Amino acid sequence: MHYDLPALRGALTRDVIDRREPGIYRFLELLPLESQPAFGQDVGGTPLCPAPRLGKALGIKELYLKNDAVNAPTLSFKDRVVAVALAKAREFGFEMVGCASTGNLGNSVAAQSARAGLSAFILIPKGLERAKVLGSLIYSPTLIEVEGNYDEVNRLCSQIVDEYPIGFVNVNLRPYYAEGSKTLGFEVARDLGWRAPAAVVCPMAGGALIGKIHKAFRELQALDLIPEANTAMFGAQALGCQPIVDAFVRGDHEIRPVKPNTIAKSLAIGNPADGYFASKLITDTGGVATGVTDPEIVAGMRLLADTEGLFAETAGGVVIAVTKRLAEEGRLQVDGPVVLAITGNGLKTTDALDSALTSDITIEAKLSEFQRVFARLRAA
Ligand SMILES: *Cc1c(COP(=O)(O)O)cnc(C)c1O
Repeated sequence: MHYDLPALRGALTRDVIDRREPGIYRFLELLPLESQPAFGQDVGGTPLCPAPRLGKALGIKELYLKNDAVNAPTLSFKDRVVAVALAKAREFGFEMVGCASTGNLGNSVAAQSARAGLSAFILIPKGLERAKVLGSLIYSPTLIEVEGNYDEVNRLCSQIVDEYPIGFVNVNLRPYYAEGSKTLGFEVARDLGWRAPAAVVCPMAGGALIGKIHKAFRELQALDLIPEANTAMFGAQALGCQPIVDAFVRGDHEIRPVKPNTIAKSLAIGNPADGYFASKLITDTGGVATGVTDPEIVAGMRLLADTEGLFAETAGGVVIAVTKRLAEEGRLQVDGPVVLAITGNGLKTTDALDSALTSDITIEAKLSEFQRVFARLRAA
């Protein structure tokens, strides 16, 4: 993917960008598209929120949440990559698109192909969260559940693209798809007042997002839009599927595929396509990659909700739990803003909380009943 950064330097200014409508197309010149598509105006432009209460709990002074749990149209960071991939699919003349998905990608391809007037084939491993299955079906794509894990679904999709004229966003359109992830990084730097953070903690599945956030900072620097950046990139996985963490810890960056077993299903990719680069980037930038257990993930989701009022999906719980662990171990000591990438919405992964959370107070509709409960709580 080549951009003429020297030519853009001085032309694509902070002012030019600021005057545009919020959303990913603010950064159109830095996306692999010929022109601005007619759909996807609502994608991106999500809030970067200071998180002082979570920061206090974790002992991090300047903490921010990049909240893609409220991304449009389907409440995850995947809306960014899909908008770009489908725009490219249209430019290439595809009438059919598809994806191999752990859930969120399928939701976004289903929704955005509907508005782009493309027909969609969504292939998912059997056993995904109910909300993620329904969140695709509502748009009436061809949804195919495959007996097997994500990596087997992905391999099948690689075979399909050889035979059929279908633009699979994360297979034959993957280079364009991945570039869409940069917009998260562009927005973070802009919203920090045109500077890169000192550290980013990012969840990793295929390993594309973490690399593209870093690439975004490098491009803004090349355009003189932000000062020299030395952002440390921290990678977060679930212990039940942490092939990138393993490669980082061994130090050779070689991915040895694993069989996933974790409640963080959106991150359950056992053979991550960009795992090598993610592991190397984390090492080169002075970051750390680590994995957390399923109970830690649930505790992370609850901590985020309790302190900042934000309901993130399991991948968000992974990020919070990893940040907590690293902060406690003194391995996240940086000078400046720390940004946590919250990439998906908790309402899609309520299954993970079913056994952890119960409502145990039921009363009749009488004031006396409430008084009894209130008094009991006060006494406790
Ligand atoms: C896909 C996904 C990621 C990770 O993206 P990769 O680029 O594959 O590493 C993170 N969080 C959520 C919620 C996702 O759906």
